Amino acid sequence: MAMDRRTFLKDAGLLLAGLGLGPALRPQFAQALEELAAGRAPVLWLQGQSCSGCSVSLLNSERPGPAELLTRYLSLYFHQTLSAATGDAAREALERAIEAGGYLLVTEGSVPLAVPEACLVGHEPYGRLLERAARRAKAVLSVGTCACFGGIPAAPPNRTGAAPTAQALAKAGITVPLVHLPGCPPHPAWMVGNVVHLLRVGMPALDEHLRPVRTYGQLLHDQCPHFAEYGRQEFATALGGPGCQFKLGCQGVITHADCSHRGWNGGVNWCVRARAPCVGCARPDFARDPAYAFYRLNEGGVPA
Ligand code: SF4
Ligand code: SF4
Repeated sequence: MAMDRRTFLKDAGLLLAGLGLGPALRPQFAQALEELAAGRAPVLWLQGQSCSGCSVSLLNSERPGPAELLTRYLSLYFHQTLSAATGDAAREALERAIEAGGYLLVTEGSVPLAVPEACLVGHEPYGRLLERAARRAKAVLSVGTCACFGGIPAAPPNRTGAAPTAQALAKAGITVPLVHLPGCPPHPAWMVGNVVHLLRVGMPALDEHLRPVRTYGQLLHDQCPHFAEYGRQEFATALGGPGCQFKLGCQGVITHADCSHRGWNGGVNWCVRARAPCVGCARPDFARDPAYAFYRLNEGGVPA
């Protein structure tokens, strides 16, 4: 589908708005979209121990929408579930891309360090492929809590030794610029916006967990529509009930993400608005820590 500059500029404006950035970066974002559409922006997307939920979430992109994303922009060099090529053709495309180097490597899912054969891509352990690909990448973008921190595959007893991308790279002595976009799954706007940012603008400002400050710089709780009810101690006492979800185990008080003002599914809803506690899916300890409170009741004050 042929597109003109105006279309790229329009989509760039929507992306910037989705990231909460001003119009100054519009020309760079438009350029990145144009390069993506022309297949000139090399992006490799590898999936390790994952449920593919991050890729599914990517396809829920609103700005640009799924159709535009697939037909205009998603000219990824390789993606295990979205590439048009399969089998040997897909592997050959992957090897050509690795040989050329200089791409943005997106990683989804954890790495089974204790049982490498627990996750194979073709006949190759995912961990070995990740090392080969990361050595020739210009940057790595880990999407989803599994790739960033271990997530659900790393939940006790973690028999495969599921580990985050960063740990696997450190073990192999690989140093490469790394950005984390946690979430189970991450919001599509976080992924699309940061891919474009990395391709054209460069590294975003990051916090101590390598998360873009723009996206993860605020506590979800501080922007929550139930914040006033929290202050008045008007708590829901049953799932689906009215009031702040704190006493039902809401992790919004310790979770950094912008869900409470961005919303999901086109801004239609998000966890707490749907009358469910935030389970802190974007937190570093999500599912991984044996003491992690998925659905415990918050009996006392705000957890440390
Ligand atoms: S519902 Fe959760 S995020 Fe919202 S005010 Fe209550 S504790 Fe905070
Ligand atoms: S509200 Fe909490 S559980 Fe829901 S998507 Fe956001 S961080 Fe994850």
